[in-house]
Amino acid sequence: MITEQCSNNEVEDIYWKWLRDLKLSRRVELFWWRLNHNAIHSNEFLMYRRLINYNGCPRGCGNVENVEHIAVQCSFLHKVIENINKWGYNLPVFSSLDICYKELLFISKSNPFMGNLYCTVVFYTWKSRSKLIHDSKEDSVNFIAANAISLASSSNSFNLKSVNWDSNRLRLNSTTWNPPPTNWIKFNVDAALHSSYKFGIGGIIRDCKGRFLFAFGFKAIHWDSSVLELEAILSLRKIIQDWMYEAKGIIIEGDNFNVMKFVKELLCKKDFYKDGTIQGEFFFLRNFN
Ligand SMILES: [Zn+2]
Repeated sequence: MITEQCSNNEVEDIYWKWLRDLKLSRRVELFWWRLNHNAIHSNEFLMYRRLINYNGCPRGCGNVENVEHIAVQCSFLHKVIENINKWGYNLPVFSSLDICYKELLFISKSNPFMGNLYCTVVFYTWKSRSKLIHDSKEDSVNFIAANAISLASSSNSFNLKSVNWDSNRLRLNSTTWNPPPTNWIKFNVDAALHSSYKFGIGGIIRDCKGRFLFAFGFKAIHWDSSVLELEAILSLRKIIQDWMYEAKGIIIEGDNFNVMKFVKELLCKKDFYKDGTIQGEFFFLRNFN
């Protein structure tokens, strides 16, 4: 029995060691501690205690909502990860909770920021799930992605070596983020139309070394899907800060070729500034060097 107790303590020590090495915020660390101790009020947990009679994921994934589903398998979590990867990160999708823990232990040594980001994404995805249960509405994928990047980056003890998970690791997609030239900044922007004319806009700004500078995400309602990406670029105007103008230049990267072409042509026009026109809306971009 003593041996068994020692062994349990060892497992506990290893677990806490990598959790600490990831330098999670206290809320995220507590959440992962609860996950590891099966103390999360998942539908499986509640049904086992006869508090509800349904153990499936409330997002309609079609699977039992247990710890593994929350931390690894939920389709909504995959959408958030996919969104973050569109902004140039390379978070993986794990096939099991066991593999997830093993990878986090590994990454806590080699690239703790990415481990932190993964844990934070799972935390915010869970928080959004609680909103779905209590208020019948979720945060947008962009909102969760931006908040997770922002919180994970707020630990200034990170020396961010890479935005990528270690090579040869399982990845959702292989898109690699390319840094802007020296002293430039890069703005990755994304807009997605959801049902009921709701859409989400999100983006992230990073410097030439891939260091996080700023992220944002919000929801809006619109009826015309053709202007979404334009709105996304214009949203930059709302979050622009004076220090950003000190950069040598800015690169804006988005999904929609036609919109990016439109903005580029707009910027090349001689009579660029016309108040009250679409050109006028984009005039703030001229403030960059
Ligand atoms: Zn799910």
